[in-house]
Amino acid sequence: MRLISLELHGFKSFADAQKLSFPGGMTAVVGPNGCGKSNISDSLAWVLGEQRASMLRGAEMADVIFAGTAQRRATGLAEVKLVLEMPDPALPGSTREVTISRRLYRDTGSEYRINGREARLKDVQDLLLDTGMGTRAYSFIQQGQIDLILSSKPKDRRLLLEEAAGITRYKLRRADAEKRLDETKANLQRLDDILYELN
Ligand code: ATP
Repeated sequence: MRLISLELHGFKSFADAQKLSFPGGMTAVVGPNGCGKSNISDSLAWVLGEQRASMLRGAEMADVIFAGTAQRRATGLAEVKLVLEMPDPALPGSTREVTISRRLYRDTGSEYRINGREARLKDVQDLLLDTGMGTRAYSFIQQGQIDLILSSKPKDRRLLLEEAAGITRYKLRRADAEKRLDETKANLQRLDDILYELN
């Protein structure tokens, strides 16, 4: 899994369209205080589906839209597009490029796209399962979070290890299957009751 590029338009302080490329190896973002470094990592979390405005250092989700300055009017739309290199499930051992984008207009909810096609938040989350890249996974380590991980309860720490080991997807599928089994059992029970009443 590797970041290839990130495009921001109308996201926080990035009023104009900006494209950042990550050519490989390690990338460091440097600049004076308040120039927008953390806004870049916020945009990464946001495009990957972050739902909590507080995690993006805002009070509400619309705070990610460029709010305007003395010289420039606010925009009505924030958009972030991320290109990732991911393992290709169709061809084990090889990779494919995947584009995830998220858009937010002031008065409506978020729209997601995967490779240009409309998608749901769940599709984005499913795509990222077991990659370590989800918003609750371990790829975003914020200030103070290392301490939090070290002092977390063993059960919470286990969730991170499960994500790294790639078994989160199977645990979720199992929970889904168990839920469907319970529903089917309840339906069968109801059917028995109806048959009993008819006899
Ligand atoms: P530091 O080094 O101090 O941590 P930083 O480079 O990480 O700073 P950020 O926190 O990313 O800086 O950016 C802060 C700037 O982003 C502030 O000037 C703030 O006004 C601006 N900003 C945040 N949200 C918006 C928004 N919705 N519209 C316009 N500007 C915004």
